[in-house]
Order: sequence, then structure tokens, then C-alpha cells
Amino acid sequence: MNKSKRKAIIAGNWKMNKTAAEAEILTKEITAVAAGADCEVIICPPFTAVSSVVTAVAGSNVAVGVQNVHYDQSGAYTGEISAEMAREIGASFAIIGHSERREYFGETNETVNLRLKAAIKSGLTAILCVGETKELRELGVTQEVIAMQTKIALGEVNAEDMKSVIIAYEPVWAIGTGLTATVEQAQEVCKNIREIIKELYNTDVAEALTIQYGGSMNAKNAASLLDMPDIDGGLIGGAALKPDDFAEIIKAASR
Ligand code: PEP
Repeated sequence: MNKSKRKAIIAGNWKMNKTAAEAEILTKEITAVAAGADCEVIICPPFTAVSSVVTAVAGSNVAVGVQNVHYDQSGAYTGEISAEMAREIGASFAIIGHSERREYFGETNETVNLRLKAAIKSGLTAILCVGETKELRELGVTQEVIAMQTKIALGEVNAEDMKSVIIAYEPVWAIGTGLTATVEQAQEVCKNIREIIKELYNTDVAEALTIQYGGSMNAKNAASLLDMPDIDGGLIGGAALKPDDFAEIIKAASR
């Protein structure tokens, strides 16, 4: 596998943080630190801040994503937003199947698949999140869990569609906990994801796929994780809200 063939992508997941006004300020700080980066930089604010962030990134090398989209175009889904709506206001990426969505909002592998297909159909690039819980890792079934999540999420997604997919390996036990997977643990799973993609599609699709690691990635551990052959980027939560830390991660991903 040739890492240089792939795009290094650093994405910030702001979760339910920042009002639209606060988001605008943080975006200005992020665009300043991202200027000249040799990797792609994406920020994913809450829905209410997407428009102001889209305006604030104009003319910069930072793109904007949303944290979720619904699988239907419209309808009786109180509180939901369609992929088309996200696209219309300027988002180009959508995080799909984040573990917090799976844990708190009842998302299943099947709804993740539907949401992922809706995102791609609307012209968004999907950042598909997969990851095992602490209990499942301790039971020794991490690779099986990741394979199942990945295969179900990619049902009816063809090789061409895969140009609009990024996969983020996010061990649930490492998200927001300060616990990071070791570089060996992260590499092992990311390599396995690439093998699954090769099996499902072909070597070209597998080699072109950007695979991110997420789970307490920060200014200190980013470089060693990003040095691993199958880790092409990061999905960052907490550290994405701190421009100096985010800047260090962007620097580590620039190559
Ligand atoms: C995330 O929310 O996707 C994430 C990785 O969070 P954190 O970096 O805070 O662990």
C-alpha cells in the first residue's frame, strides 16, 4: 500500500459546542492555523452554526461538514436534517454513524447505511465512523465488530461511490476519555479496514481510501499515529476546539 497516493485529512468534530457567533470566532482562528497546510482540513460545527462557518471559511483551505444527516429527503422526522439541506447551506462532508449517535440516538448499522447512501447521493463526502466498545475489545472481537459495521454501512455502495467515503476508526473507549489507542492497536484495525475494502471492492479502491483514526488524538500523540502506514488522518473532538492543538495535528498530517 502506498500512503502517498492518499489524501491526508484532518477533520474537527465540534459536537454540541459553540453558538453560531462563537463558531465564527473559532473558525477564523482555525483558518489562520490551517493556511498553507499540506493536508485537507474540515470542520464540523453544530447545524445551527453551519451557515456562519461556511461564510467564515470563504477563501480559505478549510471545508465544512455536518455531524449527521437523515436518510430521507424530507418528511415527518422531527428534529432531523436531510443531506440535501446540509448540502444547500454549503456543507461538503457529513459525519455518519458517530458512536455518540449510535449510543444516544439509537442508530444502527442499517440506519448508518441509509444515511451514508443519502449523503453520497446528495453530493456530500461521508465520514463513516466505526469502532468497538471496551467490552467488545476485551472479548477479543474487535476485528469482527469493525468488519460487520463496515460491511453493513457500505451495503449497496459501489466502487465509484467510494470516492465519496472516508472511514474513521474510532474506538469508543478512546472517545473523549483521554485514552488513546496505541499506535499498534490503531494501525492494526486501520490495516484491517483496508483489507475489508479490498475484499469488497478492489486494491485500487482500498489504496485510495483515506482512513482516519479518532479517539483522544491530540497535539502530543498525533504525529506518531499519523506516521503509521494505514492511518491517513484524524477525526478530532476535544482538540478541534483548541486552535493551537488543532494546528499541531494539522502540522503532523502535512506531508
Ligand atoms: C470524536 O468525537 O470523534 C472524537 C474523536 O472525540 P475526542 O477527540 O474528543 O476523543
